[in-house]
Amino acid sequence: MNARILEADVGVVGAGPGGMAAARRLAAAGLQVVVLDEGQRAGGQIFRQLPVGASGHDRIAEPPSHEHGHRLIEHFERAGMDRRHGASVWDARPGRLWFEQGGESWLLRCQKIVLAPGAYDRVVPFPGWTLPGVMTAGALQVMVRGFGVVPGRRALVVGSGPLLLPTVASLVSAGVQVVAALEASSRWRALRALPAVIGNGARRREALWYAKKLLLAGVRLRWGWTVFGCEGDGRVQRAVIGKVDRAGRPRRDTARAIDVDVVGAGFGLVPSVELGLHLGCASRHDAARGGHHLVVDDAQRTSVAGVFAAGEICGIGGAEVAMAEGELAAAAVLHELRGAPIDAALRRAVAAERRAADAMLAAFAPMPGLHELASPDTIVCRCEDVTAQRARAAAALHGSSLRAVKMGCRAGMGPCQARICGPSLQAIANARPDEVMDRPIVQVPLKVVRSETIVDAPRD
Ligand SMILES: Cc1cc2nc3c(=O)[nH]c(=O)nc-3n(C[C@H](O)[C@H](O)[C@H](O)COP(=O)(O)OP(=O)(O)OC[C@H]3O[C@@H](n4cnc5c(N)ncnc54)[C@H](O)[C@@H]3O)c2cc1C
Repeated sequence: MNARILEADVGVVGAGPGGMAAARRLAAAGLQVVVLDEGQRAGGQIFRQLPVGASGHDRIAEPPSHEHGHRLIEHFERAGMDRRHGASVWDARPGRLWFEQGGESWLLRCQKIVLAPGAYDRVVPFPGWTLPGVMTAGALQVMVRGFGVVPGRRALVVGSGPLLLPTVASLVSAGVQVVAALEASSRWRALRALPAVIGNGARRREALWYAKKLLLAGVRLRWGWTVFGCEGDGRVQRAVIGKVDRAGRPRRDTARAIDVDVVGAGFGLVPSVELGLHLGCASRHDAARGGHHLVVDDAQRTSVAGVFAAGEICGIGGAEVAMAEGELAAAAVLHELRGAPIDAALRRAVAAERRAADAMLAAFAPMPGLHELASPDTIVCRCEDVTAQRARAAAALHGSSLRAVKMGCRAGMGPCQARICGPSLQAIANARPDEVMDRPIVQVPLKVVRSETIVDAPRD
């Protein structure tokens, strides 16, 4: 047995904006903090850094708000704490986090846990979405900004929500021609987000920065359009695009083909709640905030004593929300461990950031009609090769719940454990018009780890 055990006051899962903000504040107050992140460097998804020694990032332009993030990384890396990268948390109990790092099995014993594991891309299956060259908008961002890879020459960016603009901007600065940028939401629906953007200085500056980028690159965002399918011999060569109605249903009479060699499809984000659900934390479904997210009180406490949460796990909101919630979660931990008062300004900051984010996201809430993009033979679960038709047959035979659909056709039982297919599986299987889904079904290991890690896991 190759077991290792760590002791700390606080264990923080995630070194994105939420986790970094919390950990920095806790370490500055003199607590012993261990931060666990499966990525190789700090920053999380939005402030992603190239691997050490790699080059190519300097040409990818970033909006002004990222300065703030890079300062946070600097402070975080200078604060005295145990930062562990390449560390995947695969099991947890209150006060205990089991993780794999460098092929070894570790246990962290801590008094408090702060969960800040972020989100996943929301996948909406359409014919050809599994072809090489077609990927999520987030994956494109990871490739371009996280690894300095230029993914193609002629790109199509489609989907819905605030992540489309950064994706277009990254591709353009990497020298890729963005031949079309399609937002499924209508211009009128999106206008609802305008007061939230205009009323918030940072968001306003960011929106103007992106607008200028698109203008200079000659990219026009088309509202009420999406991708109907992708085609190609061995990899994507063409995309069929067209208009959608207000619910997102494809208007087939508007279809037209364009030549592309890379497609980024980003239909929003889904909170990464598995760790929280496994710990027993209460959750709630809110389609505009990405679906199931953890419920927290006015100090980021979850329903489980000693477990706090910050960022996308509490509902999609973006980096500013994550940082404000990380600060508040840290203050609440300090209150419980040291009796320090919680500054009311931190609560006000969280409330203001959440209000702005909610107003923005309401304009891009998931459109159920987009599930009609999948034809009967479109793969919905790529781990288990399950088509829409098979998922529907399973639902008809076994019932409409997520569990019944999974048991009936094995969808969601592969290595991704339904992280990719889960958010749309039930809607497609049941042809349900709404987006209220069952809670994700979670089980350990919560991350893909070696079987030796589980066998060698330190006993508590
Ligand atoms: C793929 C992707 C790309 C994105 N790109 C952009 C972008 O370019 N611009 C933008 O404005 N927004 C982007 N976003 C949105 C962005 O996630 C949020 O706005 C912001 O980063 C949220 O901060 P967070 O701290 O909640 O989570 P994140 O920044 O996502 O940080 C969470 C961290 O937790 C780690 N983690 C998760 N689970 C575990 C585990 N079990 N064990 C160990 N570590 C774990 C992850 O490695 C990650 O570093 C992206 C989102 C995704 C999913």
